[in-house]
Amino acid sequence: MSNDLKGRRLGTRLSHVSRSPKSQAGIVNPPVWRGSTVLLPTCAARRASGTKRLEQDWTYGIHGLPTHHALEDAVAMVEGGDRTAIQGSGLSAIVVAMFAFLKSGDHVLMTDGCYGPARRLCETMLKDFGVTTTYYRPQATEAEVKGLMKPNTKVVYTEAPSSVTFEMQDIPAIARAAHAGGAKVLMDNTWGIMNFQPFEKGVDVSIQALTKYVGGHSDILMGSVTCRNADWAAVKNAQITLGQYASPDDCFLALRGIRTLKIRLEQQQQHGLAVARWLQSRPEVARVLYPALPEDPGHALWKRDFSGACSLFGVVLKPAYTQAQVDAVIDDLALFGIGASWGGYESLAQPVADITRSVTGTDLGGPAMRLHIGLEDPADLMADLDQAMSKNLRA
Ligand SMILES: *Cc1c(COP(=O)(O)O)cnc(C)c1O
Repeated sequence: MSNDLKGRRLGTRLSHVSRSPKSQAGIVNPPVWRGSTVLLPTCAARRASGTKRLEQDWTYGIHGLPTHHALEDAVAMVEGGDRTAIQGSGLSAIVVAMFAFLKSGDHVLMTDGCYGPARRLCETMLKDFGVTTTYYRPQATEAEVKGLMKPNTKVVYTEAPSSVTFEMQDIPAIARAAHAGGAKVLMDNTWGIMNFQPFEKGVDVSIQALTKYVGGHSDILMGSVTCRNADWAAVKNAQITLGQYASPDDCFLALRGIRTLKIRLEQQQQHGLAVARWLQSRPEVARVLYPALPEDPGHALWKRDFSGACSLFGVVLKPAYTQAQVDAVIDDLALFGIGASWGGYESLAQPVADITRSVTGTDLGGPAMRLHIGLEDPADLMADLDQAMSKNLRA
């Protein structure tokens, strides 16, 4: 980030970060630099570029080109970390971060509310390579985490709120316990985005699926691993050793998305809150799983640690209804697409099924769905939910 952005507010920084029109024919946005080969003037320069591989010199595509670095600087600024390594998907960001800090014989403490494929990584490849995993309650206290730490615990993995079930985590407390035992704290900060500052809360390595709100338009997959300078070599080495790469065209789109991140997110938060409150008032609804609501058990932590919310939340219906009825509601929605992922400008609905949990059980107390609220007018979204619920949820 250029020095004159220091001390500026986020909206200003998002507009000005990673731009140097003077060096790009006066054009506002950094261009798409495509490249595998980077030509160097001499053998000596070629050799030197190899030795500086971990710095921002341009050596070869996989080490990152100017379009990657422009996006990396912008994400590092949003996250409040020193350096960011862009990855081809959110899941590859998780894999890179895990392999950066784990080796055979190590142990991971994993939140039971983690994104499903992160659990699969622990249960398959990491296990096969001799890394063991213990799951802990998302709401675990500092003492609970301390009690679960082993001498070989190298990573304590967090995600707040949990995927699917939306429990909040006390990240500073968990981080204290992890650091006391000598472990790194990794966090999936995809829900928090710009509203949770991981490095101020004890996190060492923050992962985001930029696929979601940063991309913002449901047309790219991308992820990021952000850390402090002290952890950079481990992160970058893992990325290159695992052969991870993101296309510069997609980096260009993600950087374009980041310019409007704040305004989209603030608007979608408003819409999300409006729809969530309306759902709370419906007789068919048992609970809305959304830490931004005062009734949510995680609200106090959210209020303490977050400066806002995104617009992804869960809705648990009364136990009198069946999952088949909830499926029928979703099928009859006209404005909500049915599909994976979230964070785009458009609303999505999905049934919640097959929650895999090790220590906290799977029972939400009723059939459930997950909603992502987009930029459509919330009054239209509520009318749409109203017609589908009235039709399919007769008591
Ligand atoms: C979607 C998601 C990911 C993975 O992102 P992809 O780009 O789809 O691989 C990781 N973590 C969370 C919390 C997610 O919702």
